[in-house]
Amino acid sequence: MSWLGNVYGLGAKYCIEASPGVRRGDAGRFHQVWQDEHVDAPRVLIVGSGIAGVACARALRSAGIAPRVVDRGRQPGGRMASRNLNGRTVDIGAAYFTAQPGTLFGALVEDWVKRQLARAWTDTIAVAQAEGIQGSSTGPVRYAATAGLRALVADLARDLDIEQETTVEHVAPGIVDGQHYDAVVLAVPDPQAARLLDADSPLQTELAAAWLPSIAVVLEWQSRQWVPFHAAFVNNTPEVLTLADDGDRRGDDAAVLVAHTTEALAREHLDDPDGAIAPTSAAVQRLLKLPDAPTRAFAHRWSFARPSTQHPEPFHWHDGIGVCGDAWGERSSVGTAWSSGDALGRAIAASFA
Ligand SMILES: Cc1cc2nc3c(=O)[nH]c(=O)nc-3n(C[C@H](O)[C@H](O)[C@H](O)COP(=O)(O)OP(=O)(O)OC[C@H]3O[C@@H](n4cnc5c(N)ncnc54)[C@H](O)[C@@H]3O)c2cc1C
Repeated sequence: MSWLGNVYGLGAKYCIEASPGVRRGDAGRFHQVWQDEHVDAPRVLIVGSGIAGVACARALRSAGIAPRVVDRGRQPGGRMASRNLNGRTVDIGAAYFTAQPGTLFGALVEDWVKRQLARAWTDTIAVAQAEGIQGSSTGPVRYAATAGLRALVADLARDLDIEQETTVEHVAPGIVDGQHYDAVVLAVPDPQAARLLDADSPLQTELAAAWLPSIAVVLEWQSRQWVPFHAAFVNNTPEVLTLADDGDRRGDDAAVLVAHTTEALAREHLDDPDGAIAPTSAAVQRLLKLPDAPTRAFAHRWSFARPSTQHPEPFHWHDGIGVCGDAWGERSSVGTAWSSGDALGRAIAASFA
């Protein structure tokens, strides 16, 4: 059975088709009660419970609009992904994030730090070539999360109505089953948003830029054998783009490194991410001069890790369709994704005020 809803708003009508999902906790009941009691309130659907979708949902909730949020994944977080491997949480998506003091995102991060959900990790990143670490560069403070970055999105999502394991398949003009939404937000990478829209949608051109893949390779040893570093930008190697010490990042000193492959290596292994483990592991051993191979390894494919170009606007909002995420703003990052979602939520609320 498929769930069919309609989206219309500001002159245009949109139809959403989605496969069924599970509704978690009391939030679903809250949503139903809220909708029953506020029959005239705008109906908003957000596709995606990454940090952008969740930020958008929170901004709408602050303005008195209770959106429905759906995500095809099992948990909120999207590319701020943490996975339990052998009884330990490892960050397999974003490596860390930065925040500018004095911004709304900066205030959110301060609150996370105060509540010990996030911690200032380091301002120093090693710079490496294939032969080894050559030096380091100092920059903004990089933040990490002791329970993994996904926990931060879960914190933002705690009292929202999110239906996980619900995949939206089509956003198109039309009305089906008498259900409608006044606005639909696509808080997903642009190529995934484009797939949901009809081929002749005017938005297709705006969403046409290529996105780059990466494979996250988790490597685990019996003990820490490397000269201490936090994370490294790796230049001029065919295999590895960045490397992070997950034990250092998470603060438990586990002998676990996470490498993000180059776009080229990821493209070679998109159909078989495990195939990226051997070349990545060899490159990391060479780079850190490690005598032993890792004892365990795991690979995760990110087909759309990051956009190749950025939209100068903070979001798209036109004819009842919004698009937000890390491609909307100065540079692809966690902070940009949050700011884009938050700004879009405020803009939608303002347009219904
Ligand atoms: C390997 C890697 C390394 C990174 N390193 C860093 C870093 O060090 N610092 C930094 O700031 N950023 C980093 N990033 C980028 C950062 O993770 C993203 O910018 C940010 O998490 C994007 O959030 P988002 O909400 O825009 O999108 P996502 O997190 O991608 O969320 C989109 C959500 O939409 C859902 N979805 C997609 N299609 C559908 C559908 N049809 N129906 C229902 N749900 C759907 C997905 O399941 C997902 O949960 C990295 C990303 C990757 C992949």
